Amino acid sequence: MEVTNKLVKGGEFIIKETDAQDVFTPADFSEEQNMMHQTALDFVEKEVQPLLERLDNHEEGLMRGLMEKAGELGLFGVSIPEQYGGLDMDFTTSLRVTEGVGGGHSFPVAFAAHTGIAMLPILYFGNEEQKAKYLPGLTSGELMGAYCLTEPGSGSDALGAKTKAIPTEDGEHYVLNGQKMWITNGGFADVFIVFAQVDGDKFTGFIVERNTPGLSLGNEEHKMGIKGSSTRQVFLSDVKVPKSAVLGEIGKGHLIAFNILNIGRIKLAAACLGATKMASTLSVKYANERVQFKLPISKFGAIKHKLAQQAVRIYAVESAIYRAGMDIARMEQELLAKGQSHNEALLGAAREFAVECAILKVEGSEVLDYVVDEGVQVYGGYGFSADYPMDRAYRDSRINRIFEGTNEINRMLAVDMILKKAMKGELDLMGPAQAVQQELMAIPDFNLEEETGLFAAEKKTIQKLKKAILMVAGTAVQKYMNSLAKEQEVLMNIADMAIKVYTAESVLLRVEKEAATKGEEALSVQADIARVYLADAVDQVQKFGKDAIASMTEGDEQRLMAMGLKRFTKADLYNAKDARRRIADVLIAANEYAF
Ligand SMILES: Cc1cc2nc3c(=O)[nH]c(=O)nc-3n(C[C@H](O)[C@H](O)[C@H](O)COP(=O)(O)OP(=O)(O)OC[C@H]3O[C@@H](n4cnc5c(N)ncnc54)[C@H](O)[C@@H]3O)c2cc1C
Repeated sequence: MEVTNKLVKGGEFIIKETDAQDVFTPADFSEEQNMMHQTALDFVEKEVQPLLERLDNHEEGLMRGLMEKAGELGLFGVSIPEQYGGLDMDFTTSLRVTEGVGGGHSFPVAFAAHTGIAMLPILYFGNEEQKAKYLPGLTSGELMGAYCLTEPGSGSDALGAKTKAIPTEDGEHYVLNGQKMWITNGGFADVFIVFAQVDGDKFTGFIVERNTPGLSLGNEEHKMGIKGSSTRQVFLSDVKVPKSAVLGEIGKGHLIAFNILNIGRIKLAAACLGATKMASTLSVKYANERVQFKLPISKFGAIKHKLAQQAVRIYAVESAIYRAGMDIARMEQELLAKGQSHNEALLGAAREFAVECAILKVEGSEVLDYVVDEGVQVYGGYGFSADYPMDRAYRDSRINRIFEGTNEINRMLAVDMILKKAMKGELDLMGPAQAVQQELMAIPDFNLEEETGLFAAEKKTIQKLKKAILMVAGTAVQKYMNSLAKEQEVLMNIADMAIKVYTAESVLLRVEKEAATKGEEALSVQADIARVYLADAVDQVQKFGKDAIASMTEGDEQRLMAMGLKRFTKADLYNAKDARRRIADVLIAANEYAF
């Protein structure tokens, strides 16, 4: 397989190999990136954590007050240009700050709604007048934002929104009527980004101010988790806004909604990452304190397995998040150098890596759910008690698989986007897929060459896993052609294979790169982490592949593909038990998440 240079294309990981020296890893964070992360962590620890109970009880003004403090600290302005009061920092720094606030339960939800889906539409699609009017206040925290896309009848099918915007006869105003559902920050926002259909079917964004007559709010929703975040319905009854409130172009609202979501998805993964580290630390500390059968429960293999597996999945998804984050930042620089504006460049870069953003949204949210679920188990009965912290962590985690596009929608989107890129000629998927088909017919290459170097064998495994994806995806395209979209189960199988392979490759590349500077000995436990993740990924890829092959083929073709899958998912048995014990021992000695 070809080795790429630094600037990679989105989705390309399926057909190409990456050189470890070309990936960005957390060891590459700048001092400034770490400092901003620490500021966010300190804010959560000192300002948010003490208020969790009161926030969950919706004490009047409390969340807004916290948000204002975060704004004063500069946390809202990380990626906002200086002319609007921001710090104009790079994309990786904004991910790092998002990770930093991620352990703040409901706070990161309010934070993400404000800094992401509310502010970014104005930054990227607003005209100069709109930016000058709203961005300084939204950046400093004087103004709060909310984003109104979802309606009672349209969630995943966001473009099916029914809210109407009718132009007045003189063309100077629009009158909005409709109902928006599940609006985060609804209770205290001053500025609402509202999507509505102009002339029936021209989906369009508007900026609507809170005090506009006709805009009213429902009661706070009673939610399973993130109870401290404000979630309300927004009713629009003859809300008259000037035409200057139109955001972007009439009929182009989908560009706002979808482009902002790409950035939102990788940021959601970063926020989940922050929450996972907190939950891992809680689990480790509790396991060290809790004594049963005269021993701290952290001495038991079953608990070590849990603590280690939490860390394996956290470290792996972290590797993938910052790898993709830097790929986006590099592409942004490339587009800037080609003469694109700052706004076009970041949006274009995020669009290029939309596949990775969708993958990370799914993996980030599912790792968090896994970590808190095992966290509850480590706590035993106390995990089920509302007086202990794992209860809130467990409940607050669950929403992440639902918003910013459900994980089902993101899985299908990831595959759909890869195939679209292939169809547009941006990604040569069919060439490598055909090569894999030919390889299936050929006599296996037993490859008896001696492998050398850290992860030499593991890298071969990754190459083969990619062939498994190509084999399954290629067959699906050939079989179903234009009706592939209806074969959702197969699409989900392919997405799951891609998610596991992208993450496994990312963690291997990270450890390889870091070991090259710090030495293999210093990274030996991280190498354990990478190998454990890979061993699990191989089994999962095999399972998803089997599922797809069994549903798509029969007879000789099925036998051939089953054999191919076996060949592409063949890996030596690995003693993951001992590796997990070594990983757990590091956590237990540090008494916290330690990687
Ligand atoms: C706490 C909270 C805060 C939120 N904040 C905001 C906000 O600030 N602004 C905003 O605009 N929205 C917000 N949302 C809405 C959120 O984005 C939607 O709930 C989400 O997009 C899913 O839509 P839905 O709830 O209508 O579910 P549905 O779309 O009805 O989905 C139900 C199930 O069907 C599946 N499904 C749907 N379509 C398909 C398909 N084509 N193929 C296969 N499966 C499918 C879904 O994956 C899901 O499992 C929030 C939601 C919650 C719960």
